[in-house]
Amino acid sequence: MSTANALACPACGQRCLSAWDKLWLGPARSVRCGSCSCRVSVPWLPTLAFLLVGNVAPFILLALVWQPLLRRFGSVSFAVFAMGSSVLLFVFAALSLWAYVRWIPLLVRQR
Ligand SMILES: [Zn+2]
Repeated sequence: MSTANALACPACGQRCLSAWDKLWLGPARSVRCGSCSCRVSVPWLPTLAFLLVGNVAPFILLALVWQPLLRRFGSVSFAVFAMGSSVLLFVFAALSLWAYVRWIPLLVRQR
């Protein structure tokens, strides 16, 4: 599935929103397809699962990144730890927004 498909209307197959629009969409919101005027939204379960993973995974990632570094360098100052962690979390947030647009499917919302 390409990014174009990830933004295509599930009813008519036409691209019905931009990546930016999709980020502002959620399971509690829907948008009207410009081509066939059905209401398009994202499913609850994959979106909630995505949020859960997206909130837990960064901390696992931080632990995985810092452990070998600390083992190698003994210790780092709090400033280095805090700034390094912030950069990692920012990168992870950007990646997860991309992953949301790319992998959370669109569906037709009845009403
Ligand atoms: Zn459509």
